[in-house]
Amino acid sequence: MMISKEIDAARTGISKSTLMTPCSRKAFYAETVRDAEGRRLRFPMPEKVLFGTAVDYAHARLVWARLSGETQPDLLDVTGTAVALALQQAASEPIDEAVFSLQVHTALRKLTGELPNRTKAVRGEFAADVEPDGFAGTPIERIPLEGLTIQGDNGRSLHWEDVVGTPDYDGPGVIDVKTSSRSYSPSRFWTKPEMPVYALLHTAEHGGELPAFLAYHVYVRVTKPYWQWLERPCPPEYVTLGQMHAAHWRAAMEQRDPALFGVALDYCAECPYRAPLPEFGHPGCAIGQAVVSLGSEEAA
Ligand code: SF4
Repeated sequence: MMISKEIDAARTGISKSTLMTPCSRKAFYAETVRDAEGRRLRFPMPEKVLFGTAVDYAHARLVWARLSGETQPDLLDVTGTAVALALQQAASEPIDEAVFSLQVHTALRKLTGELPNRTKAVRGEFAADVEPDGFAGTPIERIPLEGLTIQGDNGRSLHWEDVVGTPDYDGPGVIDVKTSSRSYSPSRFWTKPEMPVYALLHTAEHGGELPAFLAYHVYVRVTKPYWQWLERPCPPEYVTLGQMHAAHWRAAMEQRDPALFGVALDYCAECPYRAPLPEFGHPGCAIGQAVVSLGSEEAA
């Protein structure tokens, strides 16, 4: 049976998602404002997030088939299931389901080699279906199967003290699947908390053994979309950096004061925590309300 991609909404502690939220104050609210069952609140999501959810599921389904020695499932069937799962979640904008499904299907056809992945040189980095590092297989063949687990440790999140995270794949290395409107740059590995935190969690779960590598498998959703593989070695500094991110967040959380969390005001217009949510005891975000109010006055 395929491993579930669901993440426990009642989880507590310092989650990788929390550390990755651009507005720290929003992350504080996402962690502390809970429903009556102690679960994080769920809000309608933009199309790009739901597309990522569908591709994420489908990627895991196809890798799962390879791991289990199954023949590759029909890509239209996988697309249908992935789209249905993703669209179970409410969308914050209209979605053309036919276009959405076609685009997910294209991603899978490129993943499995049914369509060429990269058909022309981009900035001179690659030509035909040969990757910049010379790899000439299909994108799904990038995923090394030996020792691989899916969705953390086959559905179990990885832990270190109060830090929790769930990479799409663990094993000898850590692999995370993304969809993005632009290609990833190598600096993503060290300028965002994600990979340092995954390195920390992997090392803790593997008896002190560092990941053999860190990798992003990114579906770059541009006019001519393609899969990008970005891989880096994992020196111990990643683990140290992950610990520093966690220590910073832990110290701030102990104060339980949203005013101590930094803000990213470009995100206020769409933020579900801006307005009060009295049914969940949330007073709203005053700074976000002020920013949006000023913006509306300027636009009037
Ligand atoms: S309203 Fe703005 S500042 Fe407040 S939590 Fe949301 S994104 Fe952050």
